[in-house]
Amino acid sequence: MVAEIISVGTELLLGQVTDTNASFLSRRLADLGIDLYRRTTVGDNVQRIGQVIQEALSRSDLALMTGGLGPTPDDVTAEGVAVAFGVRLVFHPQAEEWLLQRLSSRGIRPSPTLLKQALLPEGAIPIPNPIGTAPGIWMEKDGKRVIVLPGVPSEMEAMFDDEVTPRLKDLLKGDVLRVRVLRFSGVGESALTDRLADIMGGSNPTVGTLVKPGEVWLRLACKAPSETDAEAALNELHKKIVERVGQWLVGVGEDPLEVLVMEALKGKGWTIATAESVTGGLIGARLTFVPGASQHYRGGIIAYTEGVKMSLLSVPWSVIAEKGVVSEECARHMAGFVRTRLRADVGVSTTGYAGPTGGEEDKPIGTVFIGLVTPNETKVERYQLRGNRQQIRDAAAQLALAVTLRSLKVGAAGK
Ligand code: ATP
Repeated sequence: MVAEIISVGTELLLGQVTDTNASFLSRRLADLGIDLYRRTTVGDNVQRIGQVIQEALSRSDLALMTGGLGPTPDDVTAEGVAVAFGVRLVFHPQAEEWLLQRLSSRGIRPSPTLLKQALLPEGAIPIPNPIGTAPGIWMEKDGKRVIVLPGVPSEMEAMFDDEVTPRLKDLLKGDVLRVRVLRFSGVGESALTDRLADIMGGSNPTVGTLVKPGEVWLRLACKAPSETDAEAALNELHKKIVERVGQWLVGVGEDPLEVLVMEALKGKGWTIATAESVTGGLIGARLTFVPGASQHYRGGIIAYTEGVKMSLLSVPWSVIAEKGVVSEECARHMAGFVRTRLRADVGVSTTGYAGPTGGEEDKPIGTVFIGLVTPNETKVERYQLRGNRQQIRDAAAQLALAVTLRSLKVGAAGK
């Protein structure tokens, strides 16, 4: 089944609202194994909405739409669907009943404006809305379908998961999709994919890449008549990939890095401590987000100023004077000292320039050093990050976790 997503709303075209609905639906369609070929945004205009639907259905089996189902005059998506299918809008008794129930439970008197939400294209099936007033629309003709959900994300998401997904699964008749994400660190995207060139071109299973800070993800997807067949094909592909590039494999699945780090620490029976400057506690916050963190996270020191780096982390004045607080040497001292002081097996540190001001000629804004000391190795990695202050800080925390995970895991899968 091939689908297109159509987001309706002039506010989307004006950039006043970010189209998170389309991202959500894209992910859900991928999970269902439905191919998504296009995403379109159209304003609140009946003729243009009708035209966009007709264009989508001329190429695809399904147009999945959000927005413009409410009671106000600019909510014209139902009319657009009616135009596309060449039918009238009619009051739908079931939709009207739901609407009256919902209004009465909220103590709202029905008005012609509100009742407009029960006007659906002739032949449409209403989709119940458990949160808001506007029902969704399911319309089909000659094997082509249009599904319209409200624009409000919480309503749209609940309706998609509870009402639309089971119906789509029925339509897909048995062909299941299984997805597996393999995560690599310490290798670039092209170096990784070059080694897998012959595997990457397959049409089923497929292999796609996604570059994340400090990681490259391979998304393996397989469609098959049964889960067992799909899993078997994924296992075979997974094995082939590990044989070639297993030395960089750090995890399987989409869990946040902190979860993988905690699992890896658990596997070794190790603990970790953090010494954070540029990340200001972000790494500690992420590690303590994982339930049971106290088993493996000893604690951390946020050493933001020079003084605190010297007094609490014993960074020697000579290092600060000669190399600076944003330096390989400072990061190494921070990680080593916090590891010893907090009696942990692993010490990780960050120091860098997040901007918007500061930096040095040879260490501009975005320069970040990540220090790591474990029973097996001591190292510092230098990165040049881009983005605003928050993006740099977030990426530094992400990278620190990636560097740690790589040290804990790399090579394990290949052995
Ligand atoms: P309502 O019953 O609230 O009028 P509706 O189906 O008519 O629902 P819209 O009026 O199009 O939906 O949008 C309502 C609100 O939902 C918007 O103001 C916006 O905040 C949010 N919204 C709409 N479309 C999107 C989208 N594609 N992504 C994220 N948010 C959206």
